[in-house]
Amino acid sequence: MTHDVAVIGAGVAGCCSAVALQLRGRSVILLERGPAGPPEAGEPDWISRPAMQRLEHLEVKDLEAGGAAFRRAVFHSPDFSRSAASISSRPPGWRVDYAGLVAGLRRRAIQAGATLMNDCRVQRVEAGEDHVRVLPAEGPVLRARAAILAYGAEPLPGVTTGPGRRFAVRARLAVESGAGEPDDAMHWVPGLPEEVMYWFEHADARGRACWVTLHTAGPTAGAETRMRDLLAAAAGRGLLPKAAAGSAALRIRPLPVSGALEAETHVGKLTLTVGDAGGFISDLTGEGIHPAAWSGELAAEAMDRALAGRHVQDGLREFSELWRGAMAGYLRPPGADPHFLLPLVFSNRQIADRLASACWYGTDI
Ligand SMILES: Cc1cc2nc3c(=O)[nH]c(=O)nc-3n(C[C@H](O)[C@H](O)[C@H](O)COP(=O)(O)OP(=O)(O)OC[C@H]3O[C@@H](n4cnc5c(N)ncnc54)[C@H](O)[C@@H]3O)c2cc1C
Repeated sequence: MTHDVAVIGAGVAGCCSAVALQLRGRSVILLERGPAGPPEAGEPDWISRPAMQRLEHLEVKDLEAGGAAFRRAVFHSPDFSRSAASISSRPPGWRVDYAGLVAGLRRRAIQAGATLMNDCRVQRVEAGEDHVRVLPAEGPVLRARAAILAYGAEPLPGVTTGPGRRFAVRARLAVESGAGEPDDAMHWVPGLPEEVMYWFEHADARGRACWVTLHTAGPTAGAETRMRDLLAAAAGRGLLPKAAAGSAALRIRPLPVSGALEAETHVGKLTLTVGDAGGFISDLTGEGIHPAAWSGELAAEAMDRALAGRHVQDGLREFSELWRGAMAGYLRPPGADPHFLLPLVFSNRQIADRLASACWYGTDI
């Protein structure tokens, strides 16, 4: 066996587990289905200050170079008739190019000593008594003492996902030239039942645009219709560029099958599941980058201790307690029921500030 841990998927969660394991002296092989080289030029995402701090702690460099800072959170009512802003004294988040972020994390994992194997689509992970066998679509079977599953929201082949799928629908709405000052706010629509909607403006080589994201239930056609209705409603109130909203091309991507807090377990036989594969996404904001990095780091901590013990499987069970103790309040901030709070958000500045703090920092409301 050449490696202690096989990590399946070199996104944020997989790379952060790999770096954290290598820093603890464990040897890691990172298996990634995508090709070598930088991932395709990406779309802008947003990254919170806590996420930035976590990545800096793992010594991932030059993250702020990715994009401009946010200065405000603006909340909108579900019918877009009311808005409330909360201004921050220091940037609570930044725009970031997701592909650039992942490229930086992969470089960091390699620098920390991990082996990255590209073009390696894993089909199955089989656990024996004291090792796992990782079966790629092509090439030889790989063996390691244990595995971390970080393959994102699309399950491995052969895993049934059930009817209740959720999707993220995304639109880029070009902002007309002469539209005034750039918008430094993150816009959230906190009162949509079972849905998350947010947007922000970002300028790149193609020009200024509003990037709108909606997390909603499938099927895909229904999710697209829902997005078009919401875009039209927000544009009708002058919150989004009207012309672009009517003809926007939509991009749709799967979300995790269930939220981490609802999942039965993240501990399998000699495996731990992290990031989107484990449903680690904030209910309130749709933030996934920070929970992916965090769950990856905690899994590395649990796995390192388990591998040092006599009974690895018993040691791995510690992961459940570890992440729930640390992350449950962040994924679903206690008391963060926007339906109850919503009327107050628009009439009471303090409540808007507290909701902003829950969104950016995962604090209680
Ligand atoms: C449209 C959209 C917009 C979003 N915007 C934001 C945002 O602005 N801010 C934010 O915080 N979060 C955002 N999220 C959520 C965030 O992107 C995810 O939660 C986060 O990327 C999860 O990281 P991950 O490492 O778990 O998964 P991923 O980043 O998906 O990485 C999984 C990796 O595993 C690889 N892989 C998959 N299957 C296999 C296999 N069988 N074998 C080998 N490799 C495999 C993939 O190629 C990929 O590299 C957004 C999500 C969506 C869908």
